[in-house]
Amino acid sequence: MDGTALARRTLEAVSASAADILRRTGTAPCLATVLVGEDPASVTYVRMKRARCAKAGIESRHVALPAEVSTAGLVETITELSEDPGVHGILLQHPVGPHIDERAAFEAIAPEKDVDGVTMHSFAAMGFGLPGFVSCTPGGIMRLLDAYEVDLAGKHAVVVGRSAILGKPAGMLLLGRDATVTYCHSRTVGLPGLVREADVLIAAVGRPRFIAGTDIKPGAVVIDAGYSPGNVGDVDFESARERAGLITPVPGGVGPMTIAVLLDQTVEAATRRLGLD
Ligand code: NAP
Repeated sequence: MDGTALARRTLEAVSASAADILRRTGTAPCLATVLVGEDPASVTYVRMKRARCAKAGIESRHVALPAEVSTAGLVETITELSEDPGVHGILLQHPVGPHIDERAAFEAIAPEKDVDGVTMHSFAAMGFGLPGFVSCTPGGIMRLLDAYEVDLAGKHAVVVGRSAILGKPAGMLLLGRDATVTYCHSRTVGLPGLVREADVLIAAVGRPRFIAGTDIKPGAVVIDAGYSPGNVGDVDFESARERAGLITPVPGGVGPMTIAVLLDQTVEAATRRLGLD
């Protein structure tokens, strides 16, 4: 499954929408990025996201805060962005430092600007099956499944990993599409046996080649969201591709879709804010 190509098509549509918004209102969609400290990976991620914004005609407003900023200081900054009518979406790059109450910081993001899908409001809306912004990586996974017309109803989806930004919402979105969902995590007993039953497998662990190709059910759809240094996913791609019906590579699968969803949701937030919907 070619995430790079789908992300390119998604970003073309995002660019067209951003240009349309600018033409109709004189205002470009605007994403605020908030970075705490100078962790090299976080700096790179934010730079990549801002570069993609620029390419798509989305303005980005960057706020860099020192690593030692307090929870109160970060909440204040995010609250200001939430109240700023010129900002349509807010991205808090995480993880933030361990001394910061990350949940408090996320909750300072106004729901209508939560384009990264990190607030309790967004999570609950997703759980209720109501409109709202979804966490970008699970959102990207669903778009990939839809682009390849994967029929999810009644299928056994096995999600390995249950983080709040990835595994858990991915399973909820699949459940919302009538899949029968099993979650696996570090305390799961008999994980390979469960993986072998998966019609749709979502790997979201973060351990290189954790899932063996021999455990893939023949014909299964395999989505590998994992990423470990050296461009290695959670699934042993070379052996898994022999058995899978569809499979995402690493890189070029889920990864490119994450940013595409972020930008798409930013344009959607601007569209709603500017009363164009
Ligand atoms: P995370 O918060 O560390 O969660 C990892 C999950 O894997 C946890 O639920 C954990 O279980 C489970 N796990 C760990 N060891 C396990 C084991 N031996 N057996 C079964 N389950 C195990 O990570 P994350 O943020 O969800 O990210 C997961 C991976 O996706 C990482 O490689 C990350 O780089 C990648 N990722 C990619 C994108 C993208 O844009 N492509 C975005 C986000 C993340 P417990 O809950 O029991 O600890």
